[in-house]
Amino acid sequence: MKKKLGLDYHGVIDTHSDIFKRMAEAWIDRGHEVHLITGTSLTEEKLKEIRAHGVPFTHSFSIIDYHESIGTKIIYDEDGNPWIDDDLWNKSKAEYCRRERITIHFDDSEVYCDYFDLRLGDPTYIVVNDALIAAVKSGLRQHDEMEALGLNVPL
Ligand SMILES: [Mg+2]
Repeated sequence: MKKKLGLDYHGVIDTHSDIFKRMAEAWIDRGHEVHLITGTSLTEEKLKEIRAHGVPFTHSFSIIDYHESIGTKIIYDEDGNPWIDDDLWNKSKAEYCRRERITIHFDDSEVYCDYFDLRLGDPTYIVVNDALIAAVKSGLRQHDEMEALGLNVPL
């Protein structure tokens, strides 16, 4: 069955691109989908900046672009930053993941997590923090060491 990986941009792809590049490539190699899920507007310029991190994705979702497309009231401040109702903003990732049947979502913000409900079949929400990154890096190191010794057996 096709699985779908959700990845946040700020604090995930842009901060730990080494780890998530490896993960995204592995998912895509196995025929699964990788969804970039971010608040920021996905202009051509922004997409170029995101792609420069080298983490591949097959689909993308922007909270602000989505709300613009459905006519949500957006207020722009003097710096041009868009603002919408907090609750509407914060539940947008969970709603997208529910609609798209995302399998697992990685995000550095705990705010969105409150809107995910495993009992409703929502994806597992993994908070990307220092402890998680340290654990993954130690696991990858072990994997590399085993591989170097010829001890890793494919599952
Ligand atoms: Mg983030």
